[in-house]
Amino acid sequence: MNPAAEKHDLIDPYGRVVRDLRISVTDRCNFRCQYCMPAEGMKWLPRSELLTFEEIERFARVCVDHFGFDGIRLTGGEPLVRAHLPKLVERLSSLGVNVALTTNGATLRLHAQSLADAGLSRINISLDSLQRERFLELTRRDELDRVLDGIDAALEAGLAPVKINAVMMRGINDDEILDFARFGRERNVFVRFIEFMPLEAGDVWNDKVVVPADEIIETLQAEFDLEPIVRGSEPAERWKYSDNSAEIGVIASVTKPFCATCDRVRLTAEGQFRTCLFAIDEFDMRAVLRGELNDTALIEEIERAVGTKWAGHSIGQVNFIRPKRTMSQIGG
Ligand code: SAM
Ligand code: SF4
Repeated sequence: MNPAAEKHDLIDPYGRVVRDLRISVTDRCNFRCQYCMPAEGMKWLPRSELLTFEEIERFARVCVDHFGFDGIRLTGGEPLVRAHLPKLVERLSSLGVNVALTTNGATLRLHAQSLADAGLSRINISLDSLQRERFLELTRRDELDRVLDGIDAALEAGLAPVKINAVMMRGINDDEILDFARFGRERNVFVRFIEFMPLEAGDVWNDKVVVPADEIIETLQAEFDLEPIVRGSEPAERWKYSDNSAEIGVIASVTKPFCATCDRVRLTAEGQFRTCLFAIDEFDMRAVLRGELNDTALIEEIERAVGTKWAGHSIGQVNFIRPKRTMSQIGG
């Protein structure tokens, strides 16, 4: 971070200070998860439309140096399909900010060490089933073994704590809650169960498919002795085991939205800025970045966008509108 730079809190209309940036580095992916992408026919963005590493770094630098952001997470699509990703991690971590990554883990064995060497501070690996056939059905790829090996590679590279994101869906994988807990305890990885959210891909979502966080915790408590961990501003509610060093958490985006403490904004792979995962409006930061405008213009555009951040997503209410983009196009 540039310690000399004066910081200006980026405050939204509801008084929340924005400090966390999620950057999608690509819309492409080597998986085709049922809830995220169709099996065939995805149309990818042309290369020229993606932000370059220089553009991403400039945007991030303004967020960190001017607005005092303290966290950046890289995501996608599958971020590891973007060539030379460790180079971007190195550029961003040299800004003095925590850099995290969300990945499906399939090619992590190849990249874990160079990501760690580049300064990656946190990693989340998505894994919705520990059963080979089910994993294949959910992701349309027979890659469970490679993902498990990717988790080992992340641990070997010292990227602890490794977190596992498991989206729970009723009648699809909710019989694996205890298996995931046992897996986390054995490998000392932190499992995060995520409530399934309504984003436009396929026809999978309806409120009956959501497995509420409270039900997940009850299932866990029937087998394990859990102690709650005092919650900060993070979306996960977390517990530790009384007899094991791993921890476990739930992200109750649907049944207990954490919008009131949301400090997050997003940049899509083609440079569209979004103030909420479910936002309808986008702000074209690529036009500003490519418009030969100075950083003041970028700062003003970010402030203008954050001035429109709404109170919350209103999932489950009559006024809720599903965004047209899926998670992979927004950057989950
Ligand atoms: N490809 C990477 C991966 O799968 O980790 C990064 C992008 S992916 C869109 C990010 C996360 O969003 C994954 O953990 C995925 O399970 C989650 N996700 C996608 N669609 C979702 C939905 N409708 N509800 C909840 N989580 C979702
Ligand atoms: Fe790819 Fe991640 Fe979407 Fe699965 S959830 S299709 S791995 S972007």
